[in-house]
Amino acid sequence: MNFKYPKILTLANLPTPIVKLRDSANSPSIYMKRDDLTGIALSGNKIRKLEFVAVDALKQGADTLITCGGIQSNHARATAVTATMLGLKSILVLRGEQPEIADGNLLMNNILGAEIRFITAEEYSNSVMDIMSDIAHNLESKGRKGYVIPEGASDALGAIGYMHAIKEIREQAELLDLEFDYIVNATGSGGTQAGLIMGKKLYDYSPAILGVNVCDDASYFENKIMNIIKSAEEKFGNRFKIKSRDIKIADGYVGMGYALNKPDEIEFIVDFARTHGIFLDPVYTGKAMIGLYDLIKKGKFNKRNKILFIHTGGIYGIFPKRELFVK
Ligand SMILES: *Cc1c(COP(=O)(O)O)cnc(C)c1O
Repeated sequence: MNFKYPKILTLANLPTPIVKLRDSANSPSIYMKRDDLTGIALSGNKIRKLEFVAVDALKQGADTLITCGGIQSNHARATAVTATMLGLKSILVLRGEQPEIADGNLLMNNILGAEIRFITAEEYSNSVMDIMSDIAHNLESKGRKGYVIPEGASDALGAIGYMHAIKEIREQAELLDLEFDYIVNATGSGGTQAGLIMGKKLYDYSPAILGVNVCDDASYFENKIMNIIKSAEEKFGNRFKIKSRDIKIADGYVGMGYALNKPDEIEFIVDFARTHGIFLDPVYTGKAMIGLYDLIKKGKFNKRNKILFIHTGGIYGIFPKRELFVK
């Protein structure tokens, strides 16, 4: 299969390193793709998607990127940074009440001068896309042009960022003489996993792709990811021939809910940092790594397996949860 990529911007530091975690006895080896190192301000997975999305925004003559997410959305922060780097403005529609003190990603958005609209959880789930397109229309009436990016940039264009990441991983694995059996990622809006699955097909790359969902459930994401893949097929004219069994979700690690943490999750993140010198985040990568460790414990993998965990970022989400960490 051939795929003609649209032009890409180079904002992220790529390729990100692949490192091996120190072995624990009798377990498969875990390698980590450090996508938390895509940049300091840009840290995380969203910039791989935004590199493709932002080109489209520029092509359409947009002067403002409009997107949405939770108060501590890594995607909203990465969008604000991307907009700034490209000389554009950003408007962020965030779910929840304006906190008294801006922290973490929200603080960074404020420093960048992003325009922020806070909406209720109900408004968000009922009509966030409408709210964003209203904002775009409003800009238009003032002679400006907004470009609406869906949650997590998890659409056809965004997903090809992680399709492209498979090419990068395959090349690195070849240089390092590594054959991965699994690629594991945290799944929150599905675009990362959709892209990885498309990349696996496009590049005929062998590792199984396994997403650990951090919200909703397996059937929600099987559906959502399939829809992203279908819209990529329509947009780019490729047939990825992906079946529902290609979409593997390890459900059971959402815990108390999206962006909510139990004390043992925080403890895990602390232990992990003290063992490896690597910070997982409480919303995505912490839960995904807890899932991976649990699946290892339950014997899902054999001890010769090589697993590549994608560290999708999220470090700034630690700071607003400082109270949980100091306990
Ligand atoms: C958004 C995000 C994810 C999930 O990626 P999706 O493409 O939305 O599924 C994982 N980790 C971090 C740190 C994120 O910010």
